[in-house]
Amino acid sequence: MSYRGRFAPSPTGHLHAGSLLAALASYLDARHAGGAWLLRVEDIDPPREAPGSAAAILQALGALGLHADAPVLYQSQRHAAYQAALDTLIAKDLAFPCWCSRSDLAPHGGIHRDGHCVRQRDGSRQPAWRLRVPDVTVEFVDRLQGPQREDLRQTVGDFVLKRADGFWAYQLACVVDDAAQGITDVVRGRDLLDSTARQIFLQRCLALPTPRYLHLPLLTDTTGRKLSKSQGDALGQAPPHTQLVTALHLLGQTVPEPAACVDTLLAQAVANFDASALPTNDRRLAATLAPVPRHASSS
Ligand code: GLU
Repeated sequence: MSYRGRFAPSPTGHLHAGSLLAALASYLDARHAGGAWLLRVEDIDPPREAPGSAAAILQALGALGLHADAPVLYQSQRHAAYQAALDTLIAKDLAFPCWCSRSDLAPHGGIHRDGHCVRQRDGSRQPAWRLRVPDVTVEFVDRLQGPQREDLRQTVGDFVLKRADGFWAYQLACVVDDAAQGITDVVRGRDLLDSTARQIFLQRCLALPTPRYLHLPLLTDTTGRKLSKSQGDALGQAPPHTQLVTALHLLGQTVPEPAACVDTLLAQAVANFDASALPTNDRRLAATLAPVPRHASSS
C-alpha cells in the first residue's frame, strides 16, 4: 500500500516546538517515501481549545511549506462517523454505558476493570461509554522506540470512548479517522506512545487496519525537564527558515544548504531524509538551539 502520513494537531494553542517536530518529521517521512501527507484538526474538546488556534496552526504550517494533499479533516464534523463506530462496538457487546464517578474509581487507581458498570443506571444523566477491555497484551514494534508491550487491562482498563459530557474521546476519534484517511504511517511525539496499544486494540475491535508507528523523542529544556509552554512557543515564533533549520537539527537530519529559501530547504530535507538518523533520546531544545546558525536571508 502506498504511504499515507498525517499530522493531527489539537487546536489548543500555537504550533509549538514539539508539534513542529511532529509535523516536520511526519511530512519528511511521507514525502521521502513518495507518499501523501494529510492534515487533521482534532477539535473534539472545545473546553480545551483556544479561539483561532486551528487557523493559526494551519497558517504556520503553510508558512513552513508544509502543504497537505487533501482538504483538512475537522474532527468537529465527524460526529456521525464516531457514533457509527460506537454503535458497532455496542452491537458487538464490546462497549457499555458507565455512570461511575471519579470518586467511585479512586479506590482502584482511577481504573475501571469490571467490564460493565457496577453502579445503578441513572436516568437523570448521560453515561460515559467505555470499551470492555479483557486480559489482553498488545505488542507492536515502534519504528524508533523498538518493541512495545502493554497489558491493557492492567494499565488502563475499560477505557472511555465517549465522555459523560458528550464529547468523544481522543482514542476513538483518532482510530476512526486514521482509518478514514487511509493512514499507513503515524509519526508523532512520544507522549502518545502510551495511547498506541489502546488504539491498536480498538482497531482490532473495529476490524480496521493498524498503521506503522514512529514516536519521536520529546523536547526538554536545558535541565532535561519537559519544555515549558513559553520555551516551546519561542521556536514557533521564529521566522519559518529558522524554525526549519532548528527542527532539522533536532531531528538529526543534515541541513545541506541552510542559506536556501524555505521551499528549497524543505525539498532538500525531503530528498536527504534519513529516518535512521532520528534521535531516540529526548532532545534538549536550548542546547541544540545554540549552535544553529542564523541566516540573514531567512525567508
Ligand atoms: N491531537 C494530538 C495532539 O495534538 C495528536 C494526535 C495524534 O497524532 O495521534 O497531541
